[in-house]
Amino acid sequence: MPYRNATEQHESTKHPELKALIENNLRWADHVNRVDPEFFPRHYRGQRPEILWIGCSDARVPETTIMGANPGDIFVHRGIANLYTPQDDSLNAVMLIALINFKVKHIVVAGHSNCVGCQTALRASMLPPTPETQAIQRYLRPLTALARAMRTEDGPPSLDLLVEENVAQQVRNVLASDVVAADWKRRGADGVHVHGWVYQLENGTVRDLGISQGPPGSVPGVRAADLWR
Ligand SMILES: [Zn+2]
Repeated sequence: MPYRNATEQHESTKHPELKALIENNLRWADHVNRVDPEFFPRHYRGQRPEILWIGCSDARVPETTIMGANPGDIFVHRGIANLYTPQDDSLNAVMLIALINFKVKHIVVAGHSNCVGCQTALRASMLPPTPETQAIQRYLRPLTALARAMRTEDGPPSLDLLVEENVAQQVRNVLASDVVAADWKRRGADGVHVHGWVYQLENGTVRDLGISQGPPGSVPGVRAADLWR
């Protein structure tokens, strides 16, 4: 077995925090290999995810784990507060690969309760504007502007409300992207659907915000070709 004694080759295992991780990894690989000997050869050959997940970097929201999915099921882009802007070429490239190479049927924008990115933007929105000297300030600019725009005479929005509205805004941003427009042109009514979800850290469940949108003429769950039968 190539896994045996592999920890000894790891420089990283000199750090106790990493040693446990490496050992877990080797145990996991060994277990998977015993249960499904075809797993790794199959994955080495390629992937065929059906969903693109645009989520938050938060360590508490690992999409494959919380959705009870498996490696290979979900194509992923995660960043602070699940933001998308047209200038974000990291996410543009991920969307392009997801739609062109894997022809994914769904893009899910997933926010989550108690999001630290949203908290930070909310706090910044309550202060006078300051020079954006740090990357996080520049990165969160659209979210801070959203929080500011959501202020009413009663005060700033609640964190829960900002989390939801941020997901809705990112769904609109993704829908307005060149990448999705090109997909709808290419695939017509079979093009990608975009959804907005909020993962609730309180109880581990996902809430669908009911703002899903697909290409013109599409019917959820039905292939365009079947509409004309
Ligand atoms: Zn977050």
